[in-house]
Amino acid sequence: MKIKFIYLIFISAMLMPSLAFAAANPLERLLAGNKRFAAGIPARKEIGKKRRIELAKGQHPFAIVLACSDCRVPPEMVFDQGPGDLFVIQDAGNVADSVVIGSIEYAVEHLHVPLLIVLGHSGCGAVKTTLEARRRPAGNVGSITDKILPAVVEARKSGKKDIFNEAVQDNVKNACSEIVRRSSIIQKLVAEGKLRIVAAEYYADTGKVEPVLSGSRVPRKK
Ligand SMILES: [Zn+2]
Repeated sequence: MKIKFIYLIFISAMLMPSLAFAAANPLERLLAGNKRFAAGIPARKEIGKKRRIELAKGQHPFAIVLACSDCRVPPEMVFDQGPGDLFVIQDAGNVADSVVIGSIEYAVEHLHVPLLIVLGHSGCGAVKTTLEARRRPAGNVGSITDKILPAVVEARKSGKKDIFNEAVQDNVKNACSEIVRRSSIIQKLVAEGKLRIVAAEYYADTGKVEPVLSGSRVPRKK
């Protein structure tokens, strides 16, 4: 029951139809930045000495981005933001372990960041490696593929034509679910409306970030 409740909170947070909120809305701000990036017309940003000195006094990011370490997905550039705007966490496959979830908890509790976006991307090498692996990879890479494997299994079962991209999206959704499931701090803030979690995918060919939405995790009524 508790897990179902968590999913309900999570899904309701994900499905809030606010893609067209006022300009001050953090998600709107990110999507507007991505639109500029995709169009190849980035805004002028203060990145010089003045801004650096200003930031030395403290940080006030308006969004947390959990993204893949892939060098083609630099969050500040993809969302056309400057220094001090985003609290960025990156690892191969944008997976959520204790360190990642702890980092998010720090950002939401101490910096009061109101938005978390979990960003997968097309052509993700970590997901591809998991999809193609015949056995658990040697070394610590196995710790990453262990996290991605459930998404690959789900994607194979889905019957979808593009299993690779389906696995990318399932992996993003699984990371969102795990972040909520494993953190009472995050659950509380989501329930209070102080934190919104959005699952999204970046498409390298278009440069666009699109929301990942699915009813697949909405609990069935008995
Ligand atoms: Zn990747």
